[in-house]
Amino acid sequence: MTELRDLTPHAAIPAEQAGRDARQRRQLRANLPELVTLERLLAEAPESATVSVAERVSTDGLTLPVYQVTLGAAEPSAPLVLLVGGVHGLERIGTQVVTAWLSMVLHRMRWDRALQHLLGQVRVVVLPLLNPGGMYRNQRSNPNGVDLMRNAPIRAQSGSTFMLGGQRWSRHLPWYIGTPEQAMEPENQALARVIEEEVIGRPFSVALDCHSGFGWRDQIWFPYAYRRRPMRRIASVLALKLLWEQAYPNHEYRFEPQSTHYLTHGDLWDHFYKRINRGTQGAFLPLTLEMGSWRWVRKRPGQLLRLDGLFNPLVPHRTRRALRSHLNWIDFLLHAAASHDQWLPGQDQEPLLRQAALQLWYRDNA
Ligand SMILES: [Zn+2]
Repeated sequence: MTELRDLTPHAAIPAEQAGRDARQRRQLRANLPELVTLERLLAEAPESATVSVAERVSTDGLTLPVYQVTLGAAEPSAPLVLLVGGVHGLERIGTQVVTAWLSMVLHRMRWDRALQHLLGQVRVVVLPLLNPGGMYRNQRSNPNGVDLMRNAPIRAQSGSTFMLGGQRWSRHLPWYIGTPEQAMEPENQALARVIEEEVIGRPFSVALDCHSGFGWRDQIWFPYAYRRRPMRRIASVLALKLLWEQAYPNHEYRFEPQSTHYLTHGDLWDHFYKRINRGTQGAFLPLTLEMGSWRWVRKRPGQLLRLDGLFNPLVPHRTRRALRSHLNWIDFLLHAAASHDQWLPGQDQEPLLRQAALQLWYRDNA
């Protein structure tokens, strides 16, 4: 990480801002208001929140920080929630959802004893904008033209979807994989460092990576993306889904393995899942929130004429609805992580839940 890690929380923001002249500040306000909003929020964060810079990315004469915010329990044995947004630069709503949740927590943790108590039991790491260069340029990939979600060193087993599954021909076409065998892109290496430092060795961790652009409704995807067979922790995912649906029956997330929709090369969360669950005793459940953007387009077909209109609600009331409708789900993940010992299936419940999960999600490829 960088030297800024050791500074007090609030010092990271002015240090980044000091490097920008008036023209660059104008460029940022015009092209990356998400970063401006985030910096405003973090500059006022309470001292118990740690703000650091996980990586810096250069584009168009600007240096853009990848901020990392850490809250809650310091013990290495505490369960962890990892929130990530802005992996794909076009999917601004993901960064906005994560920032909205962070804003709520940073304001409430000053006075809310129940929240303070919860944060005493769970650690939270937030990367609201992993790909600031891509979002600045209004493109899916990072400034090198690499699709960060196709850039991990893992190959789809068979039949990856043509192009969409990741391609090696050109960085000027979408879904470009890059050269993961040599090294992942800097943004992904920063995320990998966070995973190494924060996730390994914990009894329970859950990640939520917020995307948009696929489907009619909001979906929760889990590994794998590289093959159709179920992951080892499938019983735990089903237990979490049942827990959620019992408590929040009026929410309608569709839970599915990503492979139900398409197979891809280089999926980051497949990579991290295999890395973590291979060695340690702890459980790591990487989830992706895929906000269904097609209904935003259906209600307002003119959005098709704008690239960002395919991925984001462009009408204020729909944006506000998206920003508030996922707060419960993220809160729920904190509570579920803090009390994972109450619901995570033990050896006796695991076989039955696994059978049920196979029936639910993998009947077709049995
Ligand atoms: Zn995405």
